[in-house]
Amino acid sequence: MNAKTKLVNLKYEDKLTRGEVEILTYDEGERLKRSAKAAGIILLATAGFAFVPILHFLLVPLGLLTTIIVGIFSYRQAAKVRGGLGTCPSCDKPFVIAESPPQFPLIDLCTECQQRVQIELIDELTP
Ligand SMILES: [Zn+2]
Repeated sequence: MNAKTKLVNLKYEDKLTRGEVEILTYDEGERLKRSAKAAGIILLATAGFAFVPILHFLLVPLGLLTTIIVGIFSYRQAAKVRGGLGTCPSCDKPFVIAESPPQFPLIDLCTECQQRVQIELIDELTP
């Protein structure tokens, strides 16, 4: 796992402030380990469902399907924004950036003023 801190612009209407986000990237082996762990937990729960009378006809196939879907999705996630901190451009209070997929620009809500704030990576804007 590789963690990088990047500068971001927080934008609301025409006001700009600065912030930082931490971006985690996973290599091939880590992605495989993460997806095996997530799928393993669901597979264990599915094994438990096998002992539930009648409902096991529905729960076991659903659990197996969920295991496959979760395994594929967590394997495909090569990076994520762990979160970050900045200043809200609308109310000037501290702005906590939530964990999310690394698809910039991000849209996040300020917990203080409830405004939608656009978060852009500065590194991608300036070559
Ligand atoms: Zn705010």
